[in-house]
Amino acid sequence: MSASKFEKACADYAEARLAVKKATLRIGAYFDECTRANDDSRVNRKGGQYSHVSQVLEWEVDDYGNESTYTAAERAEVLAECPGCQKAWQAIQDRREWRKKFGIAKRRITLFGNQILAARDD
Ligand SMILES: [Zn+2]
Repeated sequence: MSASKFEKACADYAEARLAVKKATLRIGAYFDECTRANDDSRVNRKGGQYSHVSQVLEWEVDDYGNESTYTAAERAEVLAECPGCQKAWQAIQDRREWRKKFGIAKRRITLFGNQILAARDD
């Protein structure tokens, strides 16, 4: 195992971890810009602010037990009503990607660690 591979894995891990943190902060700030931010007449499933993002993430169950969610077009229509939620939605998608990268980096570091441990036991 070369040092550069290990360094890259560590750097990828740190980068992804920071990016997830930053995205989470951005999402919170964007939700503060939601046009419904001061409307507490309705809450989302987690008991928080019912934003346009909450609206597009909710699903309905019909009499036959079928779940329906917003289509991409319906989602775009609702998010277009609110610049804050539009930005929050994008940041949520970014965070999802960074979380995937974070998971991959974590697994790679664990793999390297296991290789080091296995070499020690010899
Ligand atoms: Zn909104």
